[in-house]
Amino acid sequence: MNILVINCGSSSLKFQLIDSESEQVSAKGLCERIGIEGSQLVYSPAGGEKTTTVTPMPDHTAAIKLVLQALTDEKTGVVKSLDEIGAVGHRIVHGGEKFAASTLITDEVIQAIEECNELAPLHNPANLIGIAACRELMPETPMVGVFDTAFHQTMPEEAYMYGLPYEYYKKYKVRRYGFHGTSHSYVSHRAAEVLNRNYEDLKIIVCHLGNGASVSAVKNGKCVDTSMGLTPLEGLIMGTRSGDIDPAIIEFLAHKENKSIDDIMKVLNKESGVLGLSDGLSSDFRDLEESYRKGEEAGIRTLKTFSYRVAKYIGAYTAAMNGVDAICFTAGLGENGSFVRSMICEYLGYLGIAIDAEANGKRGEDIVISTADSGTKVLVIPTNEELAIARETVALVK
Ligand code: ADP
Repeated sequence: MNILVINCGSSSLKFQLIDSESEQVSAKGLCERIGIEGSQLVYSPAGGEKTTTVTPMPDHTAAIKLVLQALTDEKTGVVKSLDEIGAVGHRIVHGGEKFAASTLITDEVIQAIEECNELAPLHNPANLIGIAACRELMPETPMVGVFDTAFHQTMPEEAYMYGLPYEYYKKYKVRRYGFHGTSHSYVSHRAAEVLNRNYEDLKIIVCHLGNGASVSAVKNGKCVDTSMGLTPLEGLIMGTRSGDIDPAIIEFLAHKENKSIDDIMKVLNKESGVLGLSDGLSSDFRDLEESYRKGEEAGIRTLKTFSYRVAKYIGAYTAAMNGVDAICFTAGLGENGSFVRSMICEYLGYLGIAIDAEANGKRGEDIVISTADSGTKVLVIPTNEELAIARETVALVK
């Protein structure tokens, strides 16, 4: 069955068409600047040429129409008609406490997702627009919602509650939810396969280190803690997000800089993280690594602070699970940044971890990068959220 996987943002839309039997990608692409001047479709059929078409896309329905045209085009298409697309899988950012698993999309489900909008005001409305556009254009095709938060719904109360008045949980569901769940689930399952061990027997820590970054603790097949919270702002230092800070800093800076809460939130989301810490040098770890290697203070300070925070979370989650069998790195930096991986692992001598430098230098494959006698296994597992969404979709529509 061909599954169309859609990841819809406020002005962008990423898609992949995946053959569920072979698990190969038949075509993929991206619509950018939807609703903005200069919108374009980037389309790459498997084995074919990548094309970029600049064309107006006033809204998401127009964007999806173009995607469906490209997929069925006589010359560059990969299916003859839309009937060959068996189902659509939608990435949805926030499922609140309502969704602990993927679900078939119905009118009731759409309403329940809408009720989660205020928990993710930037993301969920865009996801819903993508669903509405697909339903309009493919009314007979079954659709599945796959939630970033669902995998973390197994966290126990002591991991998800904040030390705030309980009434805010009761009234507004203020609690920790966690994100990147599809990736944490995919990577932890893959790690068990690579190690040839039973998923339910393992204590796994997954470090998803991309522009957004989070760590999760997966014990006996269930997520028991994760570093992101009510929103993706909590936890690690990220590309431009601060991660954990003393909440009193918000008031302190608002007074000092004469800024509103909204202004400060913008600083915490868009101007902080490694970008802010490096004094504006870059949010891209390749630039920061170069700066570090040149012996510049900005690169050294930033990479040391970033790595230290990841290592602290690994320590915390080792304690939370009373041990750890495997630590996995994934996403842009986790998969490619061998230098930062080494910096993080230098803190982990107490776990008996030793890294195999040759294995750590490899890229693009599932690989154990710790030595054979390392006390805890360390792996690099390239994440594949689209494939995970396609698998969830097939499982529900079959
Ligand atoms: P997201 O999906 O959250 O936008 P990605 O998972 O694509 O992010 O990760 C982007 C990050 O990966 C960037 O900070 C980039 O610097 C980092 N990255 C990509 N390639 C490398 C590399 N070769 N070495 C170090 N970091 C890398």
